[in-house]
Amino acid sequence: HGENPDHSVAFYRLDMNEGMQQRMQIESGLRHALGNGELVLHYQPKFEIGSGRLVGAEALVRWQHPQRGMVPPSEFIPLAESTGLIVQVGEWVLEQACAQAAVWQGAGLPPFRLAVNVSAREFSASLPIRVADTLRRYRLDPAWLELEITESTLMRDVDAVIGIMDRINALGVALSLDDFGTGYSSLSYLKRFPIDTLKIDRSFTTGIPQGASDCAIAGTIIGMGHKLGHRVIAEGVETLEQLEFLRQAGCDEVQGYLYAKPLPAYEFETGLRENWLLLASG
Ligand code: C2E
Ligand code: CA
Ligand code: CA
Ligand code: CA
Repeated sequence: HGENPDHSVAFYRLDMNEGMQQRMQIESGLRHALGNGELVLHYQPKFEIGSGRLVGAEALVRWQHPQRGMVPPSEFIPLAESTGLIVQVGEWVLEQACAQAAVWQGAGLPPFRLAVNVSAREFSASLPIRVADTLRRYRLDPAWLELEITESTLMRDVDAVIGIMDRINALGVALSLDDFGTGYSSLSYLKRFPIDTLKIDRSFTTGIPQGASDCAIAGTIIGMGHKLGHRVIAEGVETLEQLEFLRQAGCDEVQGYLYAKPLPAYEFETGLRENWLLLASG
C-alpha cells in the first residue's frame, strides 16, 4: 500500500529500543524499590460460602512509585519473572506477609490463612527451607500461611515439584493451585500433586451466569476438585448472581470485589473489626 519498507524497519527498531530501555528502567527501578521500601502488600479477604466466615486473605504486591504512584503488579511482575528478580521480590513478599500475619496472631485473632503468590522460578528446593525459617523467626503458627502456585509450576520436573510440595505440606502450610483451567496441565496428572485448594480463574467467573461454557467449566472444576479431595475457591466474584451460581454449584469459597478489593493492612483491619469477623461469629 505504498509503504516504505525502510520506514517500517526504522520504526520497528525504534520501538524495540524503547521497549528494551523501558524494561531496563523498570528493572533497575524495581531493584531500587526493593531496598527502598517502595513495595507494599494489599490484602483481599476470602470467605466460605456456606457460613459466610472469613477463611483467608490473599497478599498482593503493589509498587508505590515516588513519581508514578501505585504501580499494579501486571506492570512489573512478568518482567521480574523474566529477569529472575522475582526471587528477591518473592523473598520480600513472604517476609512481609509473615510479619503481618504475626501481628494479627499476636492480636489474638483466630487464624485465617494468608496466601502468598509464588512464581514458578521461586519454587525450588530452597523454598520450604526459607518458609520454615520465616515461620520460626516470627513464631508464626503455620495455620496462618498458604502458598498460591500456578500450573506453570507443575509443568517442571514433576518428582522434584512433588518433593517440594511434600516438604511444604509437612510444615503445615497449605498449597493452592491458582488460575486453574487457564494452563495446560492435564487432569490425569493433577491428582498426583498434594494440593489443598483449586482456584477457579477470574476469566471463568466473569462469564457466570450468562456464558454457558464458563458456567460449565466452573461447575466441572468444582465437581472434579471435590472428587479429588480438594477445596474449590472462585476468584473475581463481583455480583450476587455469580455468588448464587457458585453456591448452587457447591463451590466452597469466594473472593472478589463483591466483598472487598485488595486493601492496605489498616483498611483490611477495619473490615475485620467492623464486618468480617461479625460474619465469622454468625
Ligand atoms: P492473581 O494471583 O490471579 O490475583 C488476582 C488478581 O485479581 C489481583 O490483581 C486482584 O486484585 C484481582 N481481583 C480480585 N478480585 C477481583 C474482582 O472481583 N474483579 C476484578 N476485576 N479483579 C479482581 P492484581 O493485584 O493486580 O495482581 C495481578 C497478578 O499479579 C496476580 O494475579 C498475580 O499473578 C501477580 N501477583 C500479585 N502479587 C504477587 C506477588 O506477591 N508475587 C507474585 N509472584 N505474583 C504476584
Ligand atoms: Ca493468586
Ligand atoms: Ca488467581
Ligand atoms: Ca487470575
